[in-house]
Order: sequence, then structure tokens, then C-alpha cells
Amino acid sequence: LIGRLLAGDPAALARVLTVLESGGSSADSMGASLRPHIGRARVIGFTGPPGAGKSTLISVYIAALRRREQRVAVLAIDPSSPISGGALLGDRTRMTSHATDHHVFIRSIASAGHRGGLAPSIPAMLNAIDAAGWPTIILETVGTGQTEVAVAELADVNVVLTAPGLGDDIQALKAGILETADVLVVNKSDRPDADQVRQQLKRAIALRSVHGSSPRIVATSATTGAGIEELVHAIASKAEAVPIESRTAHRLQVEILHLVRSAFEASLEQLDLDDTCARVGKGELTPHEAAEALLGIVSGN
Ligand code: GDP
Repeated sequence: LIGRLLAGDPAALARVLTVLESGGSSADSMGASLRPHIGRARVIGFTGPPGAGKSTLISVYIAALRRREQRVAVLAIDPSSPISGGALLGDRTRMTSHATDHHVFIRSIASAGHRGGLAPSIPAMLNAIDAAGWPTIILETVGTGQTEVAVAELADVNVVLTAPGLGDDIQALKAGILETADVLVVNKSDRPDADQVRQQLKRAIALRSVHGSSPRIVATSATTGAGIEELVHAIASKAEAVPIESRTAHRLQVEILHLVRSAFEASLEQLDLDDTCARVGKGELTPHEAAEALLGIVSGN
């Protein structure tokens, strides 16, 4: 199966992704056998509030890459979808125009109840797509704060979208998201109120990124195509600034931390707090001592 994946067989990739998504020991060993073959792909995160135009813009972005004869894969994380696995694209109506293009690979997966965080299998799935030879992987998620931050951690370039008409436009970007952006997109620039959002964003960035490097702001219209070339260039120049070795090392770090975090959360859920609470209530333990004791139990697991 791995051999076929490495040879570029999309059906083999799809099967590997299913194994990885199910987790467990077979996923673990499959992930390990893929590891020597990774490191070429660039991961581009696309996040932003629902309705900002992510699916529409991604579809137009894919078309722009295809005009340059670039191949592209999409891993779309759908926290609302209870179905995972082969839920290929059916629900992603705005990307269906690429469904028959063999140079576009699209897979949508559920984030599967990790308290709004990312499924721990996602870094391994990115590795599989990378090993299968896809040079660009778009990682898309709808705007729920935790998934967005996790996507930003995994992506080599993080594109954050907003658009006019989403209520209080800057507020629609949850706290902390602005800071994760390498490229900030004001989509729906065909609307007259788009420039106001752009000005708001400029001010917000000026206030917040005194220390770090500022994200680039790009105005796009997914419907008219305006700004798409600028977006392609902005993403490419940010991507080129990230060296391959640091990409792979970073993804591995995030992968391991994800596993630690989810194992930790799983053991937290198994703790019986009633007895501990009762003892704290009776004054036998301070909350701090209780926490230390519980930590001991968790790390002994
Ligand atoms: P998502 O929820 O972020 O994936 O947003 P969608 O791609 O589903 O788009 C939400 C709505 O905005 C749809 O009705 C799109 O047709 C519309 N839309 C997307 N991009 C643009 C744009 O650039 N301009 C305008 N006027 N509408 C857009």
C-alpha cells in the first residue's frame, strides 16, 4: 500500500488516510513508514469565520495554481460533520469544479470531538499527502477558535480570511487569530464596505504586531477574481521563506505535542474527582495538593 502511495496512486493515498484517521497501532506504524518520505510539501492553512468565502476562494486559488500547472491537495476539516473517512467533497459544493481534475486531491474529514481541537491524526495525514508527492496541501477549517489556532500551528503559511457583512467584522476574527496570520485576506472586495474592513484590519495590526512581523493584507473577490494573483504571490513568498527542514521538524513537534495533549486529556476524563473534592472540602487537602496528587495519578497512567 505504501509503495503504491509513493508511486502516486490516489486510491492508495485515500486508503492510507482512512487508516491514519482511525488511529491506533496500525496508524502509528503506517505513520512511521511514511516518515522517511516526507518534507517536500508546503502546508497552507486557510481559516476564517463561516461565510467569509473560504470554500469559494480556495476553489479560485486552486484554479490559479492549476493555470500554473501546479498540483494541489486539500484537507478540509469539518468540525460539524459527524461523518469522516471518505466523505469526499460531496458536501464541499464550491470545490466540486475540481473534483474530476486528477491533479487536485480533496479529502474532507471530521475533527471528531476533540473538544473543538484538531483530531490528533491530522499531522500524520498531512505527512501521507506529502509522501504521496503533493507539493501543496491546503488545510481548511471553519472558524472555531481552537481548530483555527491548531491549523495555524501546523501550517507553513497561515491565511486568515475575513469579509464585510459578517457582523462586527474584526470581532468575527476571534481573539488571537489575527496574530497567527501570515496573510490576511479581506474577501468580498467587490462589496463597497470591504475597504472599511481593510482599514479596520490595518489599524488592528498596527496595534498588535509591534514586535513580530506584520502579516500581509490582500483584498480579494472570489466572485470576480480580483486580487487572486496577488494572493498567490503573497502565499508563495511567505512559503519560500520557510526552509524545508524547519517545516518537517515543526510538524513533527506539533504531532507529538498533539498526541501528548490528547492522551493527557483522555486520562483527565477518567479521573474520579468526587473523592478528591470531598477531601478538599473537609480540609484534608488544599486544592494545590489535590492537583499535585491527581497529576501524579495521570502521569503514572
Ligand atoms: P465559507 O463558509 O467561508 O466557506 O464561505 P463560502 O465559500 O461558502 O461563501 C459564503 C457565501 O459568500 C457564498 O454565498 C459565496 O457565494 C459568497 N462569496 C464568497 N466569496 C465572495 C466574494 O468575493 N464576493 C461576494 N460578493 N460574495 C462571495
